[in-house]
Amino acid sequence: MQRPDIHDRIEAQRLEREAHGRIRVRRSVVRRDGVGCEVDGRWLLDFCGNDYLGLAQHFAVVDALQDSAARNGAGGVASHLVCGHHAAHDALEQEMADWLGTPRALLFGSGYTANLAVVQSLLGDGDTCVQDKLNHASLIDAARLADCRLRRYPHGDVEGAIRQLRALPEGAAMIATDGVFSMDGDIAPLRELALVARAQHAMLYVDDAHGVGVHGPDGRGSVAAARLDAGQVPLQLATLGKALGSHGAVLCGDAALIQHISETARPYIYTTALPPAQAAAALAAVKLARREQWRRDKLQESIAHFRAGAQKLGLSLLPSDTPIQPLLCGDDRTASAMSAALEQSGFWVAAIRPPTVPEGSARLRITLSTGHDRLQIDALLHGLARARDQLSGRRAATPA
Ligand SMILES: *Cc1c(COP(=O)(O)O)cnc(C)c1O
Repeated sequence: MQRPDIHDRIEAQRLEREAHGRIRVRRSVVRRDGVGCEVDGRWLLDFCGNDYLGLAQHFAVVDALQDSAARNGAGGVASHLVCGHHAAHDALEQEMADWLGTPRALLFGSGYTANLAVVQSLLGDGDTCVQDKLNHASLIDAARLADCRLRRYPHGDVEGAIRQLRALPEGAAMIATDGVFSMDGDIAPLRELALVARAQHAMLYVDDAHGVGVHGPDGRGSVAAARLDAGQVPLQLATLGKALGSHGAVLCGDAALIQHISETARPYIYTTALPPAQAAAALAAVKLARREQWRRDKLQESIAHFRAGAQKLGLSLLPSDTPIQPLLCGDDRTASAMSAALEQSGFWVAAIRPPTVPEGSARLRITLSTGHDRLQIDALLHGLARARDQLSGRRAATPA
């Protein structure tokens, strides 16, 4: 038999990851209190989570979850098209459509499955999905599942998107992009992409997992910030597990497209509905995010303060106005060593390494939240400078 043994193969792959410093380990959080959390018996300040508005532990959100769970239970019971669809899901969908100003909204159990659903139900064999090179993995996987042609243009390169669409004039086409890029924190050139989409008769789909709640007027996200509407961006995705402090994702946009997706997308049909209690929690969080502009204002002040401080200390951050503030380290080991040094000083900033980011661009993905105060941000800045100085000192002292 010539068949490879799966155990042997994965062992070889693990050794390979080890040799490249790419072993991935999970850390268990024992308790969370705002931006603080207990990990391995120590109390760390979290600077890598996505709870940008500090809503995940808000009493109104937790209260809504408990109240709904008491009446509806903890589970989703069945898929939406069988008997799992609940009035709490409707209420959340309506609130999201109203907030983002779109004709309709559809709730999913996660952003990952929502992306799979959109591309799979709208594109197929012979169609084309054009994507930014730095798009989230779920969009890439979505095009693979859809069995369409996937073309990736260099990050933010609108000309590249046009060229790829022109080269494939047959079949339906979609341009799919992150609104705010998850690992870089910069924003897609949505107005230009909307023009390309129109000229090339392609549909523009924006995954705004890191934009909705944080960016744009009333926190309505990157599409609203670019002054585009459902005509130009027929579908956009808001996820609920990041700035909205809960769980799930809501696809917002054109009613006919959404109806089609709800009836045909396998990642929508063949999965259990999000528990109603989660939808109730998300609804409470969305209402807070809409109403409490001060959360965005405070976050923006923190971003400006952090960037000014980093500049003074000579820390070169990637350009970003969002709560995602990456510090490039280059090689994987430097990123991991920086992360470990920060942990020694009481900060949790995970190192992000390939394949999550391109080769040679390992980084600390520092994230800010409304929950951080100025003293904590200043302390992080000094921790970062100290970690950098320690590491460069150590490197200088080691003969090459
Ligand atoms: C996190 C993320 C997703 C996945 O959303 P989940 O709800 O966590 O599954 C999709 N797209 C982008 C850009 C993301 O950052």
